[in-house]
Amino acid sequence: MLQLPIFMDNHSTTRVDSRVLEEMLPFFSTEFGNAASTTHDFGRRAAAACEQAREGIARLIGAEPKEIIFTSGATESDNLAVKGVAAMLRTRGNHIITAATEHHAVLDPCKRLTREGLHVTFLSVDRFGMVDLDELKHAIVPETILISIMSANNEIGTVQPIEEIGRVAREHGVLLHTDAAQAAGRIPIDVHAMNIDLLSLSGHKMYGPKGVGALFVRRKPPVRLVPLFDGGGHERNMRSGTLAVPLIVGLGRACELAASELDAESSRLTSLRERLHRGLQSRVEEITLNGHPSERLPGNLNLSFAFVEGEALLMSMKDVAVSSGSACTSANPEPSYVLKAIGLSDDLAHASIRFGLGRFNTEEEVDYTIVCVAETVERLRRMSPVWQDRNASVSRS
Ligand SMILES: *Cc1c(COP(=O)(O)O)cnc(C)c1O
Repeated sequence: MLQLPIFMDNHSTTRVDSRVLEEMLPFFSTEFGNAASTTHDFGRRAAAACEQAREGIARLIGAEPKEIIFTSGATESDNLAVKGVAAMLRTRGNHIITAATEHHAVLDPCKRLTREGLHVTFLSVDRFGMVDLDELKHAIVPETILISIMSANNEIGTVQPIEEIGRVAREHGVLLHTDAAQAAGRIPIDVHAMNIDLLSLSGHKMYGPKGVGALFVRRKPPVRLVPLFDGGGHERNMRSGTLAVPLIVGLGRACELAASELDAESSRLTSLRERLHRGLQSRVEEITLNGHPSERLPGNLNLSFAFVEGEALLMSMKDVAVSSGSACTSANPEPSYVLKAIGLSDDLAHASIRFGLGRFNTEEEVDYTIVCVAETVERLRRMSPVWQDRNASVSRS
């Protein structure tokens, strides 16, 4: 039986997998030890559980367990990477390279650093959301200390050529950080093959709990950074604070599951996404794909429905949870900066919808969504004077 409403917004967050929840539960009750208090079994068992989680996370990205620093999420990991490296390498250089389509968790720390005298280059992207390797090479100067480019974009799903970017960074002796909040567990990542020095990931984007994440910090050659907080010196002195044992256990289990199911899940999601795309294309006129046609996250479909307000579409589709290309955080919604960066007009940016398919979506839900979206778009267009004008001019020509 189809259960409504349908959740199809798996880039904003994901449901905790029941196998993850099950693993976490004892750590809220009987296994409540502090992982830093290992003078007794309570603490030792908590510490052992955290070490097992560290291994699970490390294995997912091809790292060593010691290279994993637990954080409160990808926002903290991004801040720690960008600000921590900038502070540590201040005497070596004062230039960072990132891209216009990064998440705010990278853009905003970079912008804050510019107020403190650092120089930041925001690379442009092409119409598919890809950075240009030549533009990257040209942006590197002797003062460049860090390149931060996300592995995959949270709005349009575009997957960046991280391996090539890693090669460029390594050749120039510049550190590479990647925000892999969307990519980890969804596409293969190998920090060594890709020459990644720092990598952020988040529990709640991969069927784990909210409020936990990790930062990979390379040990060979060692990457050093200044911590965001001072305290007990946990996590190789990079992140003080008592470990959130239940959340960490959940993140570890989520990584293990993602690693073992990645291939099967990515082909299943790719075919669901194609089914959704084809279904909509066959029923709705004037839709365009945003993001890269092939180099994209398996579950991501970002479409613009010309002559329709994305916000209106969302509000008329009560049974399907998706998100739109407008940041409706204010009374005057701004179109998404990501969609603007790939060259979309304000109209098409406002007309965009992001579908984020995930582990728990079914074919039946996709079929329901196709019908629901098609009917809603048709109804909204019937009420739109611009659509009527457009039809009149199409039939005249
Ligand atoms: C969700 C997300 C973040 C923030 O992660 P939190 O764990 O919620 O702090 C950062 N970057 C990207 C690309 C994301 O998708």
